[in-house]
Amino acid sequence: MNDVLIVGGGPAGNQAALSLSRQGYSVVVVDHRVRLGDKLCTGIVGRECAERYRVSAELVRLRARAATIVSPTGRAVVIERSEDQAYVIDRVRFVSSIAGAAMAAGADYRLGGRVAALAIDDSGVHATVVSDGRTSIVRARAVIIATGFGSALPRSVGLEAAGTPTFAAQTTIKCTDIESVQVYAQWSLPQGFFGWVVPTLPGEALAGVIGRRRPKSALNSMLEGLKDQGVQFEISGPVRSWGVPLKPAARSYGERVLLVGDVAGQVKPTTGGGIYYAMRCADIAGEVLGAALASGDLTSDALRPYEERWQLLLGRELKLGYFARRIYEQLGVRELDSLLALTATNGLLKDGVKFDWHSDIVSRALGHRLFEGILSPFTRMGRRVGVGADD
Ligand SMILES: Cc1cc2nc3c(=O)[nH]c(=O)nc-3n(C[C@H](O)[C@H](O)[C@H](O)COP(=O)(O)OP(=O)(O)OC[C@H]3O[C@@H](n4cnc5c(N)ncnc54)[C@H](O)[C@@H]3O)c2cc1C
Repeated sequence: MNDVLIVGGGPAGNQAALSLSRQGYSVVVVDHRVRLGDKLCTGIVGRECAERYRVSAELVRLRARAATIVSPTGRAVVIERSEDQAYVIDRVRFVSSIAGAAMAAGADYRLGGRVAALAIDDSGVHATVVSDGRTSIVRARAVIIATGFGSALPRSVGLEAAGTPTFAAQTTIKCTDIESVQVYAQWSLPQGFFGWVVPTLPGEALAGVIGRRRPKSALNSMLEGLKDQGVQFEISGPVRSWGVPLKPAARSYGERVLLVGDVAGQVKPTTGGGIYYAMRCADIAGEVLGAALASGDLTSDALRPYEERWQLLLGRELKLGYFARRIYEQLGVRELDSLLALTATNGLLKDGVKFDWHSDIVSRALGHRLFEGILSPFTRMGRRVGVGADD
């Protein structure tokens, strides 16, 4: 019997596989993709992520020191730093490189197979894997479900995947007019949406949007808006859409099982970015599960520290981030425009916005005298969700 079955070879699953195989456990990773990492994503990670996980320079397509935020009325606010803040990476190669490291440490990868069913009993985990129309059973002492957004597998073992989805749509454009990261805050988009154009390769960029519903039609509006502004581009890829959870799963552990990554809702609710959080939580999962395997105690009590530890790391971020998103979704054009103008001029951004950690700037903005007029209607909503002056 294997020690651990990992379902899903995205950033979460591969990083957990790396951690556990380096500890000497026998790990099997099953993913229905053959090309690991080829999942709809823009591939931006912050500097902290790139440094911690040693993203090699050859995987970096663009180094971003600045981002331009375009307000609902078209006012451009440039946030610029003296050092790189984020990197646009070749996501497929990055995710595959983590899998490669896990394989080198002994992990067994079974690609092109879908885990169709999971069952857990006192003897272990039993997974039904369907590959090329053939069915096989994989057995393990424990399972990590790292299946990303919208997976039904958690339910089969008595857990619920993360909820409260948003939906993103993205396509590739040929464009030489845009050379740095652009973020469109509701500009030419329905209320609650934001969009981006992120240069990737010379003359090429990813254009995308995220919001609660109908992202493909919102992406069309944004692209129309760009055309109206005289930006020259040509759509050069399919328009694809996929979901992003905004709230964490009610519980991310059970007997012999952990949920890691998007399936657990370990995603920044402000932007929908989840690569870094998925990998951080995978490290925690690897440590907690490694200790449980060593002690032979795989009860949910023994695995609870996983949730306690990742909540300690991310809980406040997720709570304040979700609150900030709810405010964003409710602000009208005028309020959002003033908020961005004030933010650009009042020094709030002086100390820097950390790419992966937004709770500080959210709490500073909430307590800031200048924003009182715009944000006071949300104070009561904040109290209801437990965001108070101390946050
Ligand atoms: C349009 C868009 C843009 C984004 N841009 C960014 C960005 O720039 N930066 C960022 O940090 N985040 C971004 N994200 C979010 C990011 O892609 C996810 O947070 C991240 O991929 C989560 O990693 P994961 O390992 O949890 O899941 P995933 O990367 O989704 O991996 C899950 C894996 O599980 C496999 N799988 C699922 N079910 C099964 C099954 N039953 N059997 C076998 N295999 C299965 C899938 O094939 C997949 O390979 C974006 C999301 C979207 C939608």
